[in-house]
Amino acid sequence: MTVRADDDAVPTEHTPPPRRRVESVVLVHTGDGKGKSTSAFGMVVRAVARDWRVGVVQFLKSGKWQVGEERVCRDRLGVDWFAIGEGFTWESEDLSQDEAVARAAWEHTRAMLAGGEHRLVVLDEITYPMTWGWISTADVVAAIAERPPTVNVVCTGRGAPDELVTLADTVTEMRKVKHIYDTGVLAKKGIDY
Ligand code: ATP
Ligand code: MG
Repeated sequence: MTVRADDDAVPTEHTPPPRRRVESVVLVHTGDGKGKSTSAFGMVVRAVARDWRVGVVQFLKSGKWQVGEERVCRDRLGVDWFAIGEGFTWESEDLSQDEAVARAAWEHTRAMLAGGEHRLVVLDEITYPMTWGWISTADVVAAIAERPPTVNVVCTGRGAPDELVTLADTVTEMRKVKHIYDTGVLAKKGIDY
């Protein structure tokens, strides 16, 4: 019996892979350019347009600049939106509040992923608590890998860990060509938040 080496199946430019469908995908938007979160919110709009139930968890403190999309998504689009400072409780007083809140957000996320009720789950800025060691990258990767097959996941944030990039199906690196912030111009309402 001849066993076909795996290498034989690797598609090349001239032999595109056979087309197939998957039930769900994992996406990562990383890099230092603008567009990681807004691209994820664009996907939220698409998902809502298909009548999907959508959940968003924001892992960084929501300043005023995030209020715009949060309100629209929650009030007008019916998105289940979980942001820092709302509904989260923490018990340990040894941890900094930010770390504790990120952990609470992660516990919430874990339940949301496992619950399988949302067809799209956006984990906005989740790379930072992973990078800072506040939440375990291995736990995040495992929870996403073991999610119910109907759940699509988008993770955003600079410096996505290698393990997350390896797990993901689609990874986009936003590269800063230039950013007006570097010239001293402040974040702009309607453009940046
Ligand atoms: P956006 O939310 O606009 O898609 P982002 O998610 O890619 O941006 P973040 O790293 O989350 O970028 O930064 C959030 C805020 O910082 C936004 O107001 C964004 O415009 C701004 N920003 C994004 N990239 C840069 C950059 N390279 N330098 C300075 N500010 C940036
Ligand atoms: Mg962002």
